Amino acid sequence: MTDDRRSITVLGSTGSVGAKTVTILEERGGAATFNVVALTGGRNIERLAEQAISLKADIAVTAYSECHAELQERLKNETTEVASGSEALAEAAGRPADWTMSAIVGFAGLVPGLRCLERGGAMALANKESLVAAGRLVTSTANRSGAILLPVDSEHSAMFQLLANVKPQEIESLILTASGGPFRHLTTGELAKVTPKQAARHPTWNMGMRISIDSATMFNKALEMIEAHELFETPADSIGVLVHPQSIVHALIGFHDGQMLAHMSSTDMRGAIEYAMNWPNRLPSRLRRLDLAALGKLEFEEPDEVRFPATRLAREVLRIGGFAGAAFNGAKEAALDAFLLGNINFTGMSCAVDEVLNSMAGDGSLCGEALELKEIMEVDRLARIRVEEYISRGLGQD
Ligand code: NAD
Ligand code: MG
Repeated sequence: MTDDRRSITVLGSTGSVGAKTVTILEERGGAATFNVVALTGGRNIERLAEQAISLKADIAVTAYSECHAELQERLKNETTEVASGSEALAEAAGRPADWTMSAIVGFAGLVPGLRCLERGGAMALANKESLVAAGRLVTSTANRSGAILLPVDSEHSAMFQLLANVKPQEIESLILTASGGPFRHLTTGELAKVTPKQAARHPTWNMGMRISIDSATMFNKALEMIEAHELFETPADSIGVLVHPQSIVHALIGFHDGQMLAHMSSTDMRGAIEYAMNWPNRLPSRLRRLDLAALGKLEFEEPDEVRFPATRLAREVLRIGGFAGAAFNGAKEAALDAFLLGNINFTGMSCAVDEVLNSMAGDGSLCGEALELKEIMEVDRLARIRVEEYISRGLGQD
């Protein structure tokens, strides 16, 4: 008997985007509708095992070998294969599937994402860091195999929807909106005292800890500008950012004739995940409907790049080109790790990234075409070391 269920893999299934994807799969019939090939996670083994049981996954992989025994124990009565470690994770990502959600956080999502793109199929991309660090490699790998990249970041999903039936030569600007984070009214002095716990509380979206802190620094928007450039081949000077505290409008396109299109939806990743899952169709959804009358007003303002320099740095990255994205992402991840450990303060993160980006650009470390994984990984590693050196000089604490 042939199996005509759609085959699905979810990388990072235990995270905020991954778990929502699993919930949507369950709502749409679970294992009766989908042949779930692989689910992967980190240390939340209880959730990973529950998901694997619920969706009858072929394989469940934890990135950490020290978690293997617990996963094995929790799945001992199931047919699900158990594996651990980054090699096993990449192997699972490479198993054929019609649709894959790439929702690992950070640079760690790059290799599994590439494995998935090499074997083709549709890949819903939440892992923006892989596009920032290795945009050309990611898109060229997809082009070679014919894999389809479907954006999941809410602004890029919105942009992708807006761009349908638009002629590229008619576009004047692509504008991403940003909530501005919880601290958009704080002074630089007040920002320096922000703690990781405060920074992880996002005003409008409910997301993983790292992206929430990246939103508070505006690094998330900086990553998204580069992501938009890589996904839509938009020139750097046509990509704009507008602070929009209500997070209802996600993206806008400006045309040469002076007119604009905007995309609106409630602040729930369900919209973007389902759009990528059902593309090219739209299916009925329980996505909360917007009540614009109740909302009353939508506000927009220019970002303040003095207090929040990250978006200015993104333009630098696009101007430098080459390996600048890899350095920027690596430095940003290292600075965030240092912030979580209390080794650098909130405003010190962008100072560290600024210095590392400029010193690496200055000594020629970022020249060349970023098409080789090994070279990209080396730039990522060097950028992280440069952030550690920056901190060991006693900087980033003022
Ligand atoms: P999260 O921290 O909630 O989940 C991350 C997932 O990756 C988890 O399953 C975790 O176990 C796994 N993971 C972490 N480190 C890993 C490693 N070293 N190796 C393998 N797996 C690892 O993150 P999230 O908020 O769901 O974000 C996931 C991605 O989606 C990020 O790239 C983020 O920028 C992007 N994104 C998230 C949202 C959101 O609403 N959360 C919105 C837009 C884009
Ligand atoms: Mg986003």
